[in-house]
Amino acid sequence: MPELVTSSTTDLYRSLVAQTASRVAARFAEATQPSSGASRAELQRQVDAVDLTASGVGTPTAIREIDELFLENAVWFHHPAYAAHLNCPVALPAVAAEAVLAAVNPSVDTYDQSTVGTLMERRLIDVAAGWIGFHAGDGVFTSGGTQSNLHALFLAREAALAEARMPRAQALPRLAVFATASSHFSVGKSALLLGLADDAVIVVADDGEGRMLPAALDDAMASAVASGRLPMAVVATAGTTDRGVIDPVAAVAAVCDARGVWLHVDAAYGCGLLVSRRRRHLLDGIERARSVTVDFHKSFFQPVSSSAILVREPRDLAAGAWHADYLNPLENEEPNQVDKSLQTTRRFDALKLWVSLRAIGADRIGEMFDAVIDLAQAVSDAVDADDELELVGWSQLSTVLFRLRTEGTSAHEQDALVAGVRRVLFESGRALVAKTVIDGRPCLKLTLLNPETTLDDVLAILGMVKDAATTLAGIGAELIGADA
Ligand SMILES: *Cc1c(COP(=O)(O)O)cnc(C)c1O
Repeated sequence: MPELVTSSTTDLYRSLVAQTASRVAARFAEATQPSSGASRAELQRQVDAVDLTASGVGTPTAIREIDELFLENAVWFHHPAYAAHLNCPVALPAVAAEAVLAAVNPSVDTYDQSTVGTLMERRLIDVAAGWIGFHAGDGVFTSGGTQSNLHALFLAREAALAEARMPRAQALPRLAVFATASSHFSVGKSALLLGLADDAVIVVADDGEGRMLPAALDDAMASAVASGRLPMAVVATAGTTDRGVIDPVAAVAAVCDARGVWLHVDAAYGCGLLVSRRRRHLLDGIERARSVTVDFHKSFFQPVSSSAILVREPRDLAAGAWHADYLNPLENEEPNQVDKSLQTTRRFDALKLWVSLRAIGADRIGEMFDAVIDLAQAVSDAVDADDELELVGWSQLSTVLFRLRTEGTSAHEQDALVAGVRRVLFESGRALVAKTVIDGRPCLKLTLLNPETTLDDVLAILGMVKDAATTLAGIGAELIGADA
């Protein structure tokens, strides 16, 4: 059957992968802007025009079609004018490893489905635990930071319920999670999924720049306990999604230790610091966490998905173990990763990081992350010195937040310009920037994760931002600025 990758289709497989790779390579080479700028209506028309119910057209034709449909309109994270979200250009060795995964299609749920793959994932977990400073930690690869956070809070919930001196049903609605307002939205979403009370996530005050105040944490826990709540976990964020600031992990850990509460460190964004020789100290204290989220697909230049949850105490993972006769019966002594994961069938994402570490080395990955942090600092300096822009805080990682001070506009008009500027650039496809809200006011956001991007590249984006703002201000920001 020519439809499947088997021993009888190896020639087809070889030529198809080679042809596909050369199409992709051509697109990378030709991308003159981060996206085509085609309108949503136009893209919808092209998507709808494809007949997915007809009989097959053959793989070469189908691939040519997606070249014209998808690759033509893809968003290119390697392009220097892409500066919107936490997307990175991906490491070459990881992309090669992804090709291996796609064809072999292993699943690292049970040992008998993956054999050496399971052992390789476990080695990597040991290595990542070592970066954190867990002496005998454990963990598992996940689909992303959202799943890692959910998993960590699930384990924390089980630990808190086991310790509570009351029945589960009584304890559950009393559980409380502490985090700052800048923590990732998956924290609140996890609380919902875990059946916690609507008000389970207690917002801890920050220092005005998004970093948790340890004293405020202690106060918040004291008053929660006084009103009958059971502290379940504290989530410290090591790299907030917007500002890229890091909660003072060691001081937060001290508060957690004193109260015997589970500390989860969400290092989805900041995990690249684990392998930075220049900035590893920013994560000091992370080894005192009970669980840690790392997103290799954010700051280790890995293709999506590549993430993990790490725990300090291997036995903590057992709370999620479940057994099925056909899969991982209790008496089975093989190392079945499914016992540790929320997923069953699971990608062998670890292979990508494995090949990256062998090919490039952890130090180099750390240098690449340092490079984007250096770039963000240089851009922040430039924004700070620019009369038409206003810097909103200093990131410890690689984001730059700023507002517009376009001539002849009021603060209110400047706020209204933010959405309009983002949209004008998005619709042109020439530069992609993000927007967010800080202290109740909209602002523009650059997330820099491309170590090849230069200061001049980013200054060019800022130039486009200012031009768009001036044009919009001239024709009435209120009309244009409204979000679609
Ligand atoms: C991106 C992010 C997450 C979510 O990770 P996904 O991989 O997108 O699911 C969680 N926490 C923080 C701080 C993040 O920046």
